[in-house]
Amino acid sequence: MSKPASTVMPTYARFPLTLTKGEGSYVWDDRGEKYLDYTAGIATCNLGHRPPTVEAAIQDQLNQLWHCSNLYHIPSQEKLADLLTEYSAFDQVFFSNSGAEANEAAIKLARRYAQTVKQTDQYEVVTFSQSFHGRTLATLSATAQEKIQAGFAPKMPGFRYLPYNDLEALADLVRPETCAIMLELVQGEGGVHLAEQAWMDQLVSICREHDLLIIIDEIQTGMGRTGTLFAYQQYGFEPDLITLAKGLGSGFPIGAVLAKKHVAKAFSPDTHGSTFGGNPLATTAGLATITHMVEPDFLPTVQANSNYFWQQLEGICDKAKGVQALRGMGYLIGIEVEGQAIDYVNQAREDYQLLLLVAGSQVIRLVPPLTTSKVEIDQVIEHLAQLFATN
Ligand SMILES: *Cc1c(COP(=O)(O)O)cnc(C)c1O
Repeated sequence: MSKPASTVMPTYARFPLTLTKGEGSYVWDDRGEKYLDYTAGIATCNLGHRPPTVEAAIQDQLNQLWHCSNLYHIPSQEKLADLLTEYSAFDQVFFSNSGAEANEAAIKLARRYAQTVKQTDQYEVVTFSQSFHGRTLATLSATAQEKIQAGFAPKMPGFRYLPYNDLEALADLVRPETCAIMLELVQGEGGVHLAEQAWMDQLVSICREHDLLIIIDEIQTGMGRTGTLFAYQQYGFEPDLITLAKGLGSGFPIGAVLAKKHVAKAFSPDTHGSTFGGNPLATTAGLATITHMVEPDFLPTVQANSNYFWQQLEGICDKAKGVQALRGMGYLIGIEVEGQAIDYVNQAREDYQLLLLVAGSQVIRLVPPLTTSKVEIDQVIEHLAQLFATN
């Protein structure tokens, strides 16, 4: 009997690279080669690799208590919830371990709010084309992409899809069974598409008129990624719920649902839970992360440096023949190319020791650590200009 090459299931097509160390914007492989990491663990290491304040906090917590369950009070969990609500429009937080679980909890909360607080029999959540909400059965059913759902039939009932950024299609938004909408303001995995302001305004106004909950999936856009702590803050409305994960723990696994209090009250003891969710180590990582991000200088510097990056990018993308579009917000950036995006990503790694991501087949995705320096930005611009010149 032949043994597979790896005892790990092949759910990922991996790059031929083994990373063993990280610091700031850089990672090193098992041969000691250094790479500039503009993937940040897929938009997760927003403060760079091993940010000193987060590392120190986790090390300190390692010497205190690792885990105790949610049957007891957890100070770091309370403090993290305090800060998340202080710096957002929300009142209460539920903690999970991942993005998919945060969305799963938001979907459960939306249904339970409709069925117990509003006392209706509504259950349907409307989501949008090219979305990505996760890989559990509920969240892949919420994800309006064939390729994510293929082979996992039957889908979980209770989701309906509308085209993203389509004003006319909003005429069909509300049905008697509809209780919520869920969307990303910048679609990350789906190709770095931004919600248009006029479409968003109309969507919000219909939801308010018909009492539908607005759930914004900020798993990729949150924690400073778009230049503000949360992307909704740049759209002039307040969602009822947002979900977070990726950047929240600087690489330590954690997710969260933030909700307005009238919605949050639909969860009472024994209605939802998680053994690990909000555990002392994870919430210590989250607390140190947000504490760093709300320092007065942090977000203004992210905005200034990302604006600088955008100016340079616009300059080289205008001139590049193979580039079709440049889209994004802050440090969530997509460059749509004529050829295969993966070819650019492979060449950037091989020729320039620069790590990049794709979003779909034709979009190069750049999600650097928010702490990347102007010197690093200049290097990346030089490499991209060379890449575009040779393709
Ligand atoms: C990554 C991501 C998810 C899923 O998060 P996991 O932690 O992988 O479960 C959901 N929504 C968005 C927008 C994401 O970027």
